[in-house]
Amino acid sequence: MECPYCESNQSNVIDSRKVEMNVFRTRICKKCGSKFYTEEVVITEEEARFYMAEIKRKYREERKRL
Ligand SMILES: [Zn+2]
Repeated sequence: MECPYCESNQSNVIDSRKVEMNVFRTRICKKCGSKFYTEEVVITEEEARFYMAEIKRKYREERKRL
């Protein structure tokens, strides 16, 4: 997981909380010490396909703009 401040991928999970089907984690960047949060969501195979298609579509649109 990349730090949104310095883009380092070295971080420690300091807290992990489960809310229904979601897992929220508090992370601390090993490089700059910033706190950031990640959210993990359980999805079905059908939803995964939908998200993958969305991500691909967005990626193609971004490439068109360049
Ligand atoms: Zn950082």
